[in-house]
Amino acid sequence: MIAFEWDDAELYARTLAFAAQELAPGSAERIRSGSFDRELWRRAGAFGLAGLPVPKTYGGMGLGAAATAHLLEALGCGSNDAGLTFSLAAHLFACVVPLARCGSEPQKAALLPRLASGELVGASAISEEGAGSDVFALATSAVADGDDYVLHGEKSWVTNGPVADIFLVYARTQPNAGYFGVSAFVVEKERPGLRVGEPIAKVGLETSPTCSLVLEACRVPKHNLVGQLGQGAPLFEHAMLWERSCLFALYLGSMQTALDRVVEHAKTRRQFGRALGDFQAVSHRIADMKVRLEAARALLYRACFKLDRDEDARLDVAIAKLFVSEAAVQSGLDAMELFGGLGVASESGVERFLRDALPARTVSGTSDIQRTLIARALGL
Ligand SMILES: Cc1cc2nc3c(=O)[nH]c(=O)nc-3n(C[C@H](O)[C@H](O)[C@H](O)COP(=O)(O)OP(=O)(O)OC[C@H]3O[C@@H](n4cnc5c(N)ncnc54)[C@H](O)[C@@H]3O)c2cc1C
Repeated sequence: MIAFEWDDAELYARTLAFAAQELAPGSAERIRSGSFDRELWRRAGAFGLAGLPVPKTYGGMGLGAAATAHLLEALGCGSNDAGLTFSLAAHLFACVVPLARCGSEPQKAALLPRLASGELVGASAISEEGAGSDVFALATSAVADGDDYVLHGEKSWVTNGPVADIFLVYARTQPNAGYFGVSAFVVEKERPGLRVGEPIAKVGLETSPTCSLVLEACRVPKHNLVGQLGQGAPLFEHAMLWERSCLFALYLGSMQTALDRVVEHAKTRRQFGRALGDFQAVSHRIADMKVRLEAARALLYRACFKLDRDEDARLDVAIAKLFVSEAAVQSGLDAMELFGGLGVASESGVERFLRDALPARTVSGTSDIQRTLIARALGL
């Protein structure tokens, strides 16, 4: 068991109960129809979940990375609507965290309380058709014109895009300045020239709406620039440190639920006159699931503790992101296998662990990219 300095077991228990009582009911229907539920989002906001790391002065809970991750683990454990919790986490780490870190005082005062309360949904748009893993190759431009910047370009894979009120858009402000030529802007959904695409059907996380975004001569006032001109890339990297660690705590929670379910199944399902768990091939597979989960937990919280101590967490975050996402996929496969035919039946809910885990290896930088970051940290 990991000990937390803030040691708020009561808050963890309340979050687990909230997830089970408020987010889980009706999830099967929402998943089937792929619908985003704004009312549930507001309830999650009222509980505090849309503003976990937001300073208390701006209406958040003021939690650090480890404490935030711990509550997301509770959410992942208690709710079987992984899309909704993924959307909440994307709102937090890709939009709210960078705004809280580098937003101007008026930006923070105007936006953070509304984002933290669940009134507004946040999204982040950096990926493009030609800039996925090579994310700073982005081509969307922002050109100064009087008191405004004018944005042109097309973004892909924007989580929360179809329902977002606020987009944190990364655009090139200096054409030949590479990493230092990218800046971040707040773009409100009402801005003329901003167009959101249709939701993209996905293999899992169905209730997390994702779409492309078109910016056509989209004007934003200069005061919508977040942080300094040319500081968008480091800001994005900071957001990714939080996302690649804290967001993936959701998967610790779902791995715990999968483990609990297979243990129960292995005790009660009988074949050849014995409980499944009596067969060593079965019990060893479950033991491996437990080891994988505990290793994932240790790596993820180690990365979070480093973030909280303001230490260089880049290597730890890359290791954690890689390990947790691969572990979630393997444990999803194991759970499916251990339930036999039931494991592939949609109604059992077991196949969800795998379906919701599959995108984890791609989002927030693929497993290959995490390996590249790890190799780079080793001097390769
Ligand atoms: C569900 C979902 C939600 C997302 N949400 C957002 C969002 O909110 N905002 C946003 O901006 N983006 C978002 N993304 C985009 C996501 O960050 C990208 O999909 C991801 O970075 C990979 O980029 P790509 O899809 O272009 O794949 P590519 O970069 O084309 O990669 C394809 C394959 O090539 C491999 N590859 C590429 N380059 C290398 C290399 N140098 N070395 C080794 N292997 C390499 C990759 O690992 C991968 O296996 C989301 C994606 C998904 C699936």
